[in-house]
Amino acid sequence: MAAKIDKELCCYCGGCASVCPFSALELKGTYVKCDPEKCVDCGICVKICPVGAIEVKGQRGENK
Ligand code: SF4
Ligand code: SF4
Repeated sequence: MAAKIDKELCCYCGGCASVCPFSALELKGTYVKCDPEKCVDCGICVKICPVGAIEVKGQRGENK
């Protein structure tokens, strides 16, 4: 399982990486990498992203 990050929208704030309880997300300079081995599709990162750049299980967050 994995969170999909829209690179066009992501502003590299690092918020998603800091809230993921499973340390599945890692901010690497100008992109966020999701480790599919660690991600459990909980959706917490979807809610925290300020620009709605993350999609998990077909659910996308809002641009706040
Ligand atoms: S869906 Fe949950 S486990 Fe997967 S990257 Fe987001 S916060 Fe982490
Ligand atoms: S919370 Fe959203 S904007 Fe911030 S690094 Fe993650 S995907 Fe990018």
